[in-house]
Amino acid sequence: MYENLLANVPTDLWIGGKWRKASDGGRFDVTDPATEKTIASVASATVDDAIAAVDAAQAAFEGWAGRKPRERAEILRKAFDLIMRDAERFAKLITLENGKALSDSRGEVAYAAEFFRWYAEEAVRNIGQISMAPASGARIVAQHKPAGVAVLVTPWNFPAAMATRKIGPALAAGCPVVLKPASDTPLTMLALMPALEEAGVPPGVVNVIPSRSSGKVVSAMLHDPRVRVVSFTGSTEVGRKLLHEAADNIVKPAMELGGNAPFLVFEDADIDAAIEGAMIAKMRNMGEACTAANRFYVHEKVHDEFAKKLTAKMSGLKMGNGLDDGVALGPLVNKEGRDKVIELVDDAVAKGGKVLTGGKTPDGPGFFYPATVVTNVPSDAKMFNEEIFGPVAAIQTFKTEDEAIKRANSTEYGLVAYLYTKDLSRGMRVSEKLDFGMIGLNRGLVSDPAAPFGGTKQSGLGREGAAEGMKEFLETQYVSVTW
Ligand code: NAP
Repeated sequence: MYENLLANVPTDLWIGGKWRKASDGGRFDVTDPATEKTIASVASATVDDAIAAVDAAQAAFEGWAGRKPRERAEILRKAFDLIMRDAERFAKLITLENGKALSDSRGEVAYAAEFFRWYAEEAVRNIGQISMAPASGARIVAQHKPAGVAVLVTPWNFPAAMATRKIGPALAAGCPVVLKPASDTPLTMLALMPALEEAGVPPGVVNVIPSRSSGKVVSAMLHDPRVRVVSFTGSTEVGRKLLHEAADNIVKPAMELGGNAPFLVFEDADIDAAIEGAMIAKMRNMGEACTAANRFYVHEKVHDEFAKKLTAKMSGLKMGNGLDDGVALGPLVNKEGRDKVIELVDDAVAKGGKVLTGGKTPDGPGFFYPATVVTNVPSDAKMFNEEIFGPVAAIQTFKTEDEAIKRANSTEYGLVAYLYTKDLSRGMRVSEKLDFGMIGLNRGLVSDPAAPFGGTKQSGLGREGAAEGMKEFLETQYVSVTW
């Protein structure tokens, strides 16, 4: 099964439009989380390789930035078509290295490709401004120029989409990139490179350097004066480190970090709609999403109905190898991820939480954990204060709107919050009081290439998607002119 899928997947470094080995010959293994078997050995970039990738990107910068926006747009649009032509192969590859169910991977491929189509349309809309200086009468001409070489660092939970969400706007803006994918899931991006080449992306414009020495490699690039942007998606802990590193050369940062999303269900909510939304917000990607609903706050009057219906849905999900038919719940990405979920559930139970379904780790092989619902979770349980990053719904009841808002906001994260109510004025009122960068109002899904995705507080800086996403790769230049 693996052999066919992996036959044409490159496993070396993609630098300057060529495949090469690591300068020290180093490699690392990639594991299938469903079987715990090694499926590939990938070149591990060194600091020298990373600098070579920056050389290649810098060499490509002028030519790429100088291409007409329409030409860049056509290339991005072709990349979209080529991904969709090969969507099933990409989806299976994502499942193989990440574990998620094939239905989730198919959704991810469509979402990932859409960033190329959306930014093909944005590439031709880099619009500046002209005005008259009020006192001097000089003209103020403001235009947005490509910032320069961008370093992109991405996580394992969406091996395709978290990268295309950065490559799309960077290329549309005219910036070349060096991408360091997560070590758990480097294959998807390596497999994308032939498609980008076929679409017409010139050598050096996109470089991919998997590495087991992430810290050293990324640090070296951030201290290279040619690097002008760092766009990172991953944990708040690593994001904080990269912000410190970026400070040395004042590199422009874009940070998509961790979340701890509350999901509020008011007494007037349509409970069936809330269940449908909860299943998406919690179980998309098996809970391994920064947007995953982490804390369910349910009004005490509707708690029993909500908990019963959610338990029925969760216990009906088929768990197994993500490549198999009908499977909705694959394994978690690795042993550490699975062990963390076990620890969080054990902690909640020890503090009084009541397991309604799931909660028992199956025998291996594979890093499986069942869909689990825990209610009566106290506020000091770890799972209410840390990202669960697994298929576990944690429920608590509330009595008043103010109490729900206060508890929802009681986190250092501010990525996304969800709320269900049939009263739209309450929905908007509560949305405004929630300190989160995104709100799902009667919706369990907010991700959309056309929307400005991003968080407040310790969930990040900047936005991805929409017109705003391209601004992260642009610098404004203003010309003061008299004519
Ligand atoms: P992570 O440990 O922070 O890793 C993310 C990336 O950073 C990986 O490529 C990793 O490489 C690299 N990295 C690790 N340490 C580094 C260092 N010292 N210097 C430079 N790079 C380093 O996060 P993860 O476990 O892969 O992903 C899960 C996290 O991502 C969660 O917190 C989730 O909420 C967040 N996330 C946020 C968003 C968003 O849009 N806000 C979206 C998806 C995920 P290695 O793989 O080699 O360690």
